[in-house]
Amino acid sequence: MKSVDAHLADILATVRTLAPLELELERALGTTLAEEVSSPVPLPPFDNSAMDGYAVRAADVAAAPVSLPVIDDIAAGSGELRAIGQGHAVRIMTGAPLPAGADAVVPVEWTDGGTVTVRIDRPVREGNAVRRAGEDVQAGEVVLKPGTTIGAAQLGIIAGTGRRRVWVRPRPRVVVLSTGAELVEPGTQLGPGQIWDSNSFTLTAAVREAGGDGFRAGTVTDDPAAFLDQLDAQLVRADAVITSGGVSMGAYEPVKEALGPLGTVRFEKVAMQPGMPQGFGVVGDDQVPIFTLPGNPVSSYVSFQLFVRPALRKMRGLPAGPPITRSAHLLAPLHSPEGKRSFLRGVLADDGTVTPVRGQGSHQLAALALANCLIMVPEQVTEVPSGASVQVIRI
Ligand code: AMP
Ligand code: MG
Repeated sequence: MKSVDAHLADILATVRTLAPLELELERALGTTLAEEVSSPVPLPPFDNSAMDGYAVRAADVAAAPVSLPVIDDIAAGSGELRAIGQGHAVRIMTGAPLPAGADAVVPVEWTDGGTVTVRIDRPVREGNAVRRAGEDVQAGEVVLKPGTTIGAAQLGIIAGTGRRRVWVRPRPRVVVLSTGAELVEPGTQLGPGQIWDSNSFTLTAAVREAGGDGFRAGTVTDDPAAFLDQLDAQLVRADAVITSGGVSMGAYEPVKEALGPLGTVRFEKVAMQPGMPQGFGVVGDDQVPIFTLPGNPVSSYVSFQLFVRPALRKMRGLPAGPPITRSAHLLAPLHSPEGKRSFLRGVLADDGTVTPVRGQGSHQLAALALANCLIMVPEQVTEVPSGASVQVIRI
């Protein structure tokens, strides 16, 4: 059997980082920056007030309390400003440009709020409540480097430098297809022998959680020709495809039967539990990577975390490798099959203890939904006593 590490290594050696493209800022959330972003101007672009108050010369209020004539009123956005002379004050709002001649802002709270003359109760230091041009960013300074994941704050600074579009590696578009003659859509009645398709929802959501755009292409029956037709129709919009089901050892395994003869997808047994039957390869003229995951709901989810998530990171232009693990203190004994790496579902608590959930079958989706981590048991270990230190992967 192939090891988990060897399977991931094959996958990462095959998938390619997506080519950069230029996107409108509205579409750039969750993408990876593919250029250096710098500001063409200093930020803030001009000296301005950090508070609502009065722009003054600090020397003129050194003997506070003092009363000064208010010679102007400056709101944020004001363009034409008169310089202030000695002994004058100007009412000023937060973000409004500081008039020439002023060197400090007195907060309105330290005054009587007058609009013709103002009484100022306390002296201020030079520079008080003044935001200097370039204090955040100098003209030409790099604010973001390539490889940065664009979240809300990163989008903010890109817009803040005046950019409307940005070069990024996009979110991978991933089509998710469930196979199984027993599957029906949630929201419809179950007939005899039928179950509701859950995998396509789980996997599409997992793609989104992993920074991709998941498209749920629904379900296909166990007919290899129908599966190929559906796959063909979906390939045009896919950077990667995930299928579930139809890769085991039984009869009616449409994914294996349809893709096996192409020779570009390998079906293998990987030494893990759950999730032993795995397939990976490329399909179509564009050599789109395809992950053919086993059908059991927990198996496909665990396979996603171990293999698809790192592949999506590589496609996004991010460092990619095995899932990050941390150690935890196990609160119950565990069994694991010899020769396979186990990924048991557990609840990791804030105090660093981990408790396996009840229901470790690969069909037990309700138990998975209660878990927040996978407890890893190495291949050669078959018994783990309560109290042992284990490695866990957060999910
Ligand atoms: P398979 O890998 O196709 O042999 O399926 C293994 C098990 O997973 C069977 O019990 C299937 O009914 C179940 N299964 C397969 N696909 C799905 C799905 N999309 N949603 C829920 N269960 C599924
Ligand atoms: Mg099936």
